[in-house]
Amino acid sequence: MTSEYVDALVETASDGISFDGLRVAGDGEYTFETPAVELTELSEAALRDVAAGSPYVTNWYFWHAQTPQKDDRWAFLRRVEDAPLESETDSIHDRYEALDDGVTTTWGQLEITVTLGTAGQREYSLSHVADGADSELHSYDESLQARELARLDDDGRYRPLKTAPTLGTGWEFSGLGPEALVEAVGFFYPATITNWHREQNGNLDVSHWTETMERQSGIYQVVTTWDRGEGHEHVEWVAESCCTDSQCLKRREWQYDEERELETHGGDGVFPCREPCSLVISAARKFTKLDAEPTHSYEFELTPSEKEQLEGLIDAVAEGRVGEIREADIGKDANRYRTRFLRARRFDEDSQLCGVPTEEE
Ligand code: SF4
Repeated sequence: MTSEYVDALVETASDGISFDGLRVAGDGEYTFETPAVELTELSEAALRDVAAGSPYVTNWYFWHAQTPQKDDRWAFLRRVEDAPLESETDSIHDRYEALDDGVTTTWGQLEITVTLGTAGQREYSLSHVADGADSELHSYDESLQARELARLDDDGRYRPLKTAPTLGTGWEFSGLGPEALVEAVGFFYPATITNWHREQNGNLDVSHWTETMERQSGIYQVVTTWDRGEGHEHVEWVAESCCTDSQCLKRREWQYDEERELETHGGDGVFPCREPCSLVISAARKFTKLDAEPTHSYEFELTPSEKEQLEGLIDAVAEGRVGEIREADIGKDANRYRTRFLRARRFDEDSQLCGVPTEEE
């Protein structure tokens, strides 16, 4: 390894090197500079001597020969170890010291830790933010295995939206190289690195609601008719239903159209959402049909507590809290026994609330 990064340095010196505090130049006779030393008129042998074991040189080699050179991946890996995007002149010793202890960051529900390997190489580990030191974890080392882990939640249910905050727990990847790390992250959260990087560079190509709907064809064309003149409250309802932090870790950047922003908060996620996703489009198709139904007046006889229980039940389902309510929590609106009591008391044999038919005879 030593000769590999030193050979690379000598080979590249004639082009001039300036990266993270290291400056090397020359061809036959060399200069070598770091914040701590300034050496000139070095022979190749002397350059090789001073370069061997220098953290500035191993760091340069890692970032130029061992990391993916695609801009977005490179920038993501810099973020992971909290290194500035632009090469810096500060001491690399501080960064290596931090890496020795491990530098940890999060990406959605992923926790990523980078540590220093031999000769400046980095090793990455990946786990779920909710798992701690005491958690029992299954170990993985192939990034492709992330695809399978991303498929189901902890209850074994299929996750149609990869950025929903329902990623299963109980796993860890360790000893990943930089390329394998970005691949694994891509399996967990597809395209998030690219879109984050585009946003960082001010070129995230956002496709707003109206543009995206205009592109729909076939069964989804029904959604394109869902435009009720001036108001865009229907789209607000879709965003409120699907795109808030409790439902999706992406930060919604798309709006109603270029001129009209939605009032619903887009969320605080680290990676942006550039257009309505297929889940939202498919939900909007259903919502469009529901919204087109005319309203009807019904008369139900309920006690005040029953009315409040129905409201609480809807709220608990919408917020995904039903699973947390224990059988003993009889005071909770969505408690199973309490709900069964409401059903026994207010449903008729055809499961109609208070015996009121949905359609008039
Ligand atoms: S459209 Fe909404 S739900 Fe879909 S990925 Fe974007 S923010 Fe998430």
